[in-house]
Amino acid sequence: MVDHKVEALSEDTVTIDGEKWPSKTVIWTSGVKNNPFFLTHSEYFNISENGRVKVNRYLEAFKDVYVLGDNADTRYSGRAYTALQDAIFVADHLERRAVKKLLKPYRPSRVSQSVPVGHNWAYVEKYGIYLAGRSGYTVRRLIELANLRSLLPHNQALSAWHAYDKRDGSCELCKIRPVPKVEKA
Ligand SMILES: Cc1cc2nc3c(=O)[nH]c(=O)nc-3n(C[C@H](O)[C@H](O)[C@H](O)COP(=O)(O)OP(=O)(O)OC[C@H]3O[C@@H](n4cnc5c(N)ncnc54)[C@H](O)[C@@H]3O)c2cc1C
Repeated sequence: MVDHKVEALSEDTVTIDGEKWPSKTVIWTSGVKNNPFFLTHSEYFNISENGRVKVNRYLEAFKDVYVLGDNADTRYSGRAYTALQDAIFVADHLERRAVKKLLKPYRPSRVSQSVPVGHNWAYVEKYGIYLAGRSGYTVRRLIELANLRSLLPHNQALSAWHAYDKRDGSCELCKIRPVPKVEKA
């Protein structure tokens, strides 16, 4: 089924367009779509096959118009960390332009993949190294702390980090011991 709306989820049903389907396991995936602004103004933008905007080595779509984050056709686009890195890059770039310093080209930085499943269980991958279970969750939490620290003053980062810890609900998978093995993709 496509173009159907998931309306509700309970322990053993998922409701799609008013109809209840029995399921104890529901896996939700979603993509990140580009802002339609660029396609509706495609005469100004060079749009790549995946709908993202092609940018030059300074993240410019054309002179003085920067496109970043999900909208930009960069290597690791579609991730929150990339969007942050892009913003930091453009801020530094504009400062360099203003004071006539040497301009540095944009370098996409590789991001880790992580999938938290409830409390105390996560799957994490970086540089081809995979971790699943409690150790994955610990690494995921450390990555979250590092990301928050790059954004907020120390105290605010810590309290946001602790608040994150309380947000995850319980899940049956997390109670399974030993932790199920995750096959390498
Ligand atoms: C369900 C979901 C889960 C995700 N989980 C993760 C994850 O675990 N890790 C990860 O790294 N990434 C995750 N992502 C991807 C991540 O959220 C995006 O890559 C990131 O938010 C992109 O940042 P951005 O600034 O480019 O765009 P956005 O965060 O989408 O910000 C764009 C902003 O522009 C505003 N806007 C749009 N049009 C206009 C307009 N005309 N005028 C003014 N404002 C406007 C929007 O309201 C929005 O606030 C997830 C995405 C989704 C949808």
